[in-house]
Amino acid sequence: MTTETLLAKGLVERIGLEGSMLTHKKTDNGEEFILEEPMKDHTEAIANVINVLTDNNFGVVKSMDDIGAVGHRVVHAGEKYSSSVVIDDKVIAALEECIPLAPLHNPPNLLGIAACMELMPDTPQVGVFDTAFNQTMPPESYIYAIPYDYYLKYGIRRYGFHGTSHQYVSERAADILGVNLADLKLITCHLGNGASVSAIKRGKCIDTSMGFTPLAGLAMGTRSGSIDPAIITFIADHDNLTADEVLNILNKKSGILGISGVSSDFRDLSEAAEKGNGNAADAIEVFCYRVAGYAGRYAAAMNGADAVVFTAGVGENAANIRAKIGGYLGFLGVEIDAEKNGQRGKAIDISGAAAKVRALVIPTNEELMIARDTKELVR
Ligand code: ADP
Repeated sequence: MTTETLLAKGLVERIGLEGSMLTHKKTDNGEEFILEEPMKDHTEAIANVINVLTDNNFGVVKSMDDIGAVGHRVVHAGEKYSSSVVIDDKVIAALEECIPLAPLHNPPNLLGIAACMELMPDTPQVGVFDTAFNQTMPPESYIYAIPYDYYLKYGIRRYGFHGTSHQYVSERAADILGVNLADLKLITCHLGNGASVSAIKRGKCIDTSMGFTPLAGLAMGTRSGSIDPAIITFIADHDNLTADEVLNILNKKSGILGISGVSSDFRDLSEAAEKGNGNAADAIEVFCYRVAGYAGRYAAAMNGADAVVFTAGVGENAANIRAKIGGYLGFLGVEIDAEKNGQRGKAIDISGAAAKVRALVIPTNEELMIARDTKELVR
């Protein structure tokens, strides 16, 4: 951590399913190790991770005694935590209380924490929450215009997600611009399969496009983003579906996939649009228009902006999407230089000579944020 060097990176997939698989890649020689064997639960998966990290050939540490702490990404901490914390029984109970807010994410996050605690009982565990950075939003951003009792009773409010990424790129943006974060108004666009835009004023999130769940806001790969809520009952009534079935359509069959009928991947979409597929072209336009719409709204919220930041799979790689969004934001003083916009794989200012508001591409690094917070908390 003194040099923030990535030693290895890995992934376990299909835990508890047929075809469990661990992939591990060492950074120094790029050597990849793949383990395909049944892993019935998270404890077995983490045991395999520990084995490979300490393996004579593929390992990167001599023993687990070299590991000072473990950082966990946890999706939902509700209103309980506005920054990362060292995990103890009280934190676990708090995260269990948040399960209704993130039923698909918090349970496996908690299983991972339990597995690490079991296998590394003397090593501190730290929780880093997707919702934490957004906790600075003021009520006018997070209160929905529905009876206030729902907020009090069920915690229904805007929480927002991707906080770790928005925080990381806003800090990097300040570095790149050579300006104190406390003096900046930033519009950060995390555009991946899931996508959100945030307004970052003086280093603090004051609004974000995702809501009570990650379904709100932008049109995404397969998610609808915000729609008129009356559409849900209309479809349910006309197609004889339950509310859950309609929500499933809004989560998995909508977004740019739903509009285009082609793909949820922007590479496929751009290719189809170039070949003349009108629905694919429409899907791209809907996506860019919506991003620009949020950016305009956040410029209003902050009374201006110093820079627009693009990150995540689409934001980092899709020059055509950035150019389109930049086009919509000309009124704000955004101007994107075509040649700079064509470069890939590094943090770069892609603004043209006449730009009044900078446009930056910054590769996100949520793992590094998690590692930094973890180091700070256990030091
Ligand atoms: P998530 O973490 O939300 O799953 P990512 O941030 O990894 O998503 O982004 C994945 C998306 O990035 C892909 O679905 C694809 O649409 C897009 N993407 C990746 N590379 C490119 C590229 N070269 N051009 C356009 N889009 C790309």
